[in-house]
Amino acid sequence: MVVDGYQKMIRVNLTSGKISVKEIDKKFAREYIGGRGFTAKILYDEVRNVDPLGPDNKVSVASGPLSGLFAPGGGKTHFSAKSPLTGGFGDSNMGGLFSAEMRMAGYDLFVFEGVSKKPVYLYVENDKVEIRDASHLWGKGIITTELEMKKELGEEFQIAAIGPAGEKLVKIACIGHDYGRQAGRAGIGAVMGSKKLKAIAVHGTKDIPVADVKELVKVAGKMFDDCKKHPNFGAWQKYGTSQVVKWASDEIEALPTRNFQQGKFEKALDIDGTTMVPRNVKLNKSCFGCPMACGKYAYIPTYDKYVEGAEYETLALLGSNCGMGFIDDVLMGNYLCDEYGIDTISAGNIIGFTMECSEKGIIKEKYRFGEKEGYLDLIKKIAFREGIGDILAEGVKYAAQKWNAMDLAVHVKGMEQSGYESRAAPSMALSYMTCDVGAHHNRSWAISYDVKEGRDKLEGKAEYVIKLQHIRPLFDQLGACRLQWVELEVDLNDYARLYSAATGYKTTLDELLLSAEKVYNISRAFWFREVKGFGRSWDMPPKRYTEKPKVGQFKDLVIDNEKANKLLDDYYRLR
Ligand code: SF4
Repeated sequence: MVVDGYQKMIRVNLTSGKISVKEIDKKFAREYIGGRGFTAKILYDEVRNVDPLGPDNKVSVASGPLSGLFAPGGGKTHFSAKSPLTGGFGDSNMGGLFSAEMRMAGYDLFVFEGVSKKPVYLYVENDKVEIRDASHLWGKGIITTELEMKKELGEEFQIAAIGPAGEKLVKIACIGHDYGRQAGRAGIGAVMGSKKLKAIAVHGTKDIPVADVKELVKVAGKMFDDCKKHPNFGAWQKYGTSQVVKWASDEIEALPTRNFQQGKFEKALDIDGTTMVPRNVKLNKSCFGCPMACGKYAYIPTYDKYVEGAEYETLALLGSNCGMGFIDDVLMGNYLCDEYGIDTISAGNIIGFTMECSEKGIIKEKYRFGEKEGYLDLIKKIAFREGIGDILAEGVKYAAQKWNAMDLAVHVKGMEQSGYESRAAPSMALSYMTCDVGAHHNRSWAISYDVKEGRDKLEGKAEYVIKLQHIRPLFDQLGACRLQWVELEVDLNDYARLYSAATGYKTTLDELLLSAEKVYNISRAFWFREVKGFGRSWDMPPKRYTEKPKVGQFKDLVIDNEKANKLLDDYYRLR
């Protein structure tokens, strides 16, 4: 029985004010599944040779076919646009409740094009879709905006918004939701800002169509049971990803420290989840339908503020990478990024870079690793483009070109690298080198494979990275979180069964993975088409990978040009 769980899409032209609503095309749905598949296809087909911050760029927002259903972690929302940070393929996803609400309102996809003359937000309540004035919200922080909009519209609305950084076209601007969930990477918040689109508010009361409810409940029930039975379930619920800090530093020596100069941080325990949870965390927060509840809502006594966080990537980049060893300072950095609307990963990378430039006398401004005044000041300066922040708001690659400090900039394709120092981790390094948005971990988190198979070994690494680059994006297409699979070993085949039950399209995991591979190829093709001269040199790692780390047991391991080229040769041959 085919019911087809897909519903409608909304296209909004912000220049003309025209809104059109239509059914999701069946062929498009089957071929691209949803989420990242939908947004990647829109980007590839409809955005050609455009200025990322001009009227012809498009922001698409998609839920997946598992969003809003009884499915573990079915709460992811996907955003895509041509990235103003890299000039290439840009996408990012966030957890929370937004995609579930989209589907309860009857939609799988929103596409925004053109530019509004004044600040606006999109209002969606079931079949009522309107562009509304957002002048009263312009200039306000994301958390403040969300609070005000919920007061105005009702608690039942789910909000995705940008902050002052997005409005000021800061190229690491994020989109925030649910008081602390972000689509952080690739600067899509700035693309929303360029369109004067402050927020999207959505509320729905409809049933989400499901082809086979009995089968869905049976498969999902088993998956929830599998999660809860896993020996790591309790620790994941208690600490979330924050428990990874100490392991990353003291066991595998891959925690980015002081602008990736080393992988071991002497204060790792002080910013690890085992310190943060008893000191700061007040409650666990979950995305739609997730049993893990990895979100940690925390109080910061030193600053009298509340923040959702910090998860591992934030602790690594805003913590050790800036030499910050007091958890309250890191949480405050997290709070400011969330409110102003900048990506914590890129921000921490850029601040670490600035501190190193300052300590080496490349810039005259005084910013020191571990000094909280300069650290918090830089976050504000970047978000509001004040002084030195106006340069840093363009991203680490731009700042490094400006200051003639490219050797210190840790990025690939212009995107600041996320939380694993990878000189002694070839498959993680290759993951960053070949990730289709830049140096980001979510397409392939391969560090554990390096730990298992050998930190210096190159053989077999490319094959493993490619495998992950197809599996992990599938979760983005389904609108589901991958942590239940990565950390609690839920059976991957169960996702194919869930998809079949939800949509009525009988499928297998292999078929779904073919779609994920196609999406990967589209995103790669986008780079070739949009970026002149794109090729191998864009996949090379940062210069820092060729320098020996300052401390630790892997002091002699680097990824020099020979190793990097060998990894790429293997990778290209297998692709
Ligand atoms: S594991 Fe965390 S990020 Fe994933 S769905 Fe659950 S709460 Fe959200």
